Amino acid sequence: MAEPSHDLFPIKRRGLMLVLSSPSGAGKSTIARSILDSDPEIDMSVSVTTRPKRPGEVEGRDYIFIDRTEFDLMVNRGQLLEHAKVFDNYYGTPRAAVMDALAEGRDALFDIDWQGTQQLAESAIDDLVRVFILPPNSRELERRLNTRAQDSQAVIAARMAKASDEMSHYAEYDWVIVNHDIEESVEQVRAILCSERLKRKRQVGLGEFVKGLRAG
Ligand code: 5GP
Repeated sequence: MAEPSHDLFPIKRRGLMLVLSSPSGAGKSTIARSILDSDPEIDMSVSVTTRPKRPGEVEGRDYIFIDRTEFDLMVNRGQLLEHAKVFDNYYGTPRAAVMDALAEGRDALFDIDWQGTQQLAESAIDDLVRVFILPPNSRELERRLNTRAQDSQAVIAARMAKASDEMSHYAEYDWVIVNHDIEESVEQVRAILCSERLKRKRQVGLGEFVKGLRAG
């Protein structure tokens, strides 16, 4: 993987896990895409899933599509950092890619639900930054869910019910953004990312840097 950009961040740091959770339709995917496109130090953590590929989705970019047998094998071998059943499908985060990224000073962005976030909190709280995105109101949430043409009415209805359940978990997150305006929300996520990267515990190269400063 690429060296961290020294123009942006001169001191060696440990990467972080940025979790974005929200009910479907709150704008999370757009926010995530915008961060990934504009920030060279963060990569998407690509999950494995047992759900069928949707039109337009790309293997290895959106998900790694596997069957249930393979999924169970990965769970049993401890190859998933967290995993959960969402709707009727199974999802999980491959461990190795994330651990390598953090050690190299790169961040990983996660689009996972509250169940996965709770598991990450149990195993890696020091590396975790949890952001919850809420829609501005229920009318807007419904409207956004209905514009996803590729999903059937039954899927939309199930998502609406699930959204209510998902939103009840907002208090388990470190940061909460109400997505009134996508550009503003992206700026807010950038501000969180910047602050979290500057935390002393993540700047593992500080001792060496200050030693150099003092030596003159
Ligand atoms: P979708 O099938 O629409 O892509 O995702 C459905 C839900 O599964 C979303 O809430 C998404 O955040 C969640 N999800 C996607 N990947 C993972 C994962 O690796 N772990 C967990 N826990 N949830 C995931």
